[in-house]
Amino acid sequence: MSDITKQSLSSLIKNIKEKKLSSVEITKAFIDRSEKSNELNAYITEDYSSALDKAKKFDQKPNLDLKLPGIPIAVKDLFCTKNIRTTAGSKILDNFIPTYESTITQNIWNEGAILLGKLNCDEFAMGSSNETSFYGNVQNPIDKNLVPGGSSGGSASALAGQLTPITIGTDTGGSIRQPASFTGTVGLKPTYGSCSRYGIVAFASSLDQAGPMAQNVKDCALLQEIISTYDPKDSTSINFKRNEYSKDLTNNIKGKRIGIPKEYRVEDMPKEIEELWQKGIQFVKDCGAEIVDISLPHTSYALPTYYIVAPAEASSNLARYDGVKYGFRAMGENLIDMYEKTRSEGFGAEVQRRIMIGTYVLSSGYYDAYYLKAQKVRKLIKNDFDEAYKKVDAILTPSTPSSAFKIGEKKDDPVSMYLNDIFTVPVNLAGLPGISIPAGHDDKGYPLGLQIIGKAFDEQNILNIAYAMEEKIDFKNKISDWWIK
Ligand code: GLN
Repeated sequence: MSDITKQSLSSLIKNIKEKKLSSVEITKAFIDRSEKSNELNAYITEDYSSALDKAKKFDQKPNLDLKLPGIPIAVKDLFCTKNIRTTAGSKILDNFIPTYESTITQNIWNEGAILLGKLNCDEFAMGSSNETSFYGNVQNPIDKNLVPGGSSGGSASALAGQLTPITIGTDTGGSIRQPASFTGTVGLKPTYGSCSRYGIVAFASSLDQAGPMAQNVKDCALLQEIISTYDPKDSTSINFKRNEYSKDLTNNIKGKRIGIPKEYRVEDMPKEIEELWQKGIQFVKDCGAEIVDISLPHTSYALPTYYIVAPAEASSNLARYDGVKYGFRAMGENLIDMYEKTRSEGFGAEVQRRIMIGTYVLSSGYYDAYYLKAQKVRKLIKNDFDEAYKKVDAILTPSTPSSAFKIGEKKDDPVSMYLNDIFTVPVNLAGLPGISIPAGHDDKGYPLGLQIIGKAFDEQNILNIAYAMEEKIDFKNKISDWWIK
């Protein structure tokens, strides 16, 4: 079978279960393609030879009852992997080899999956284009001049480029949904507290959430089923009854009420995004759901609120990188000098910017004016959603205000970069689940995504809506394998 890497996760699993393919054959195929894909720069650390060893071991004694039997997977380099370097895209963690495994990756290995390697990402997940990574930018398989989105840019590029059949990312303000939208893939940001944060390098702890990325909704549902577990090791993990998301998946969404928030019709929104949204509305109607106009009045405050809360938490989380306990250390004349040099040399410009903003908004003179105010506005944003959900079952919006932009285009303009998150950050601030599905192309042939936002813990519902829409949309990614020589 020469087309192994083109297959969806579900079909790979079926082929393994029916003994038409072995884990070694599948693993070799993905390694081979990954090796030919260096130009994308999707990987930071490769672990191919131990992946092959694990595949051989699996084939000797295959356990076909597992959910990911012998399936090779590459993951974002923000998840700690025991004995395998974990950098978070930063120089400061360039030599960091964790002695423990994140709960989410452990869940995946427990189901029989095999680690292929660690995928590139923005430094400490701060970015929307993967250009803040110490390990260089990542190319979008759609077009070599395009960013793949960020911060899970390596994950999105590897997935769309078929270097991994599925992957996991993290989403603090949009880092799963935005790159999914830029690469024509599916990405789910789960409800805050549903997937454990244990062993994930922290960015902004009250917003960070890991989630699945896949080529289609069904694969995404299966991965969510595996990674969403209660974890006593994460104090914010919530013990609720979880669905078997892939088994319970249905395309019957008749009678569902879908809200269209007028505040998401932002100024200067490109015509093609508006058209995509209208198309989405029609698809939802065709599936028998009902459209309801709603208002989320505090939407315009979400972005400024996020860019206070997230840097504040980041400045506190990143205080631990001081050159003493682990990670990079620059030599200094005394302790303070060593701290300063370590942090100036170890962190990139965007991370330093966030630390400065965060420290500023938390400082005693400005705490009330910025941080406290932002927390209050955050509550108002959450209240808007609560109010809306009295009338609707889910909300439909575009995922991003544009298609993928060019590498370098926004790099020197942080505010225009931050504007990318305009449709995704409200969801993180409110702790809700949101999924991005590919829904069309712009006139250049670049993919565009639609976002479905759910009530807290209602992942099944948004997966079902996405599943029903996916069938109607019948999206085909336009990838020519240009990077494979
Ligand atoms: N682009 C946003 C930021 O830079 C979101 C990042 C994320 O979700 N990790 O903060």
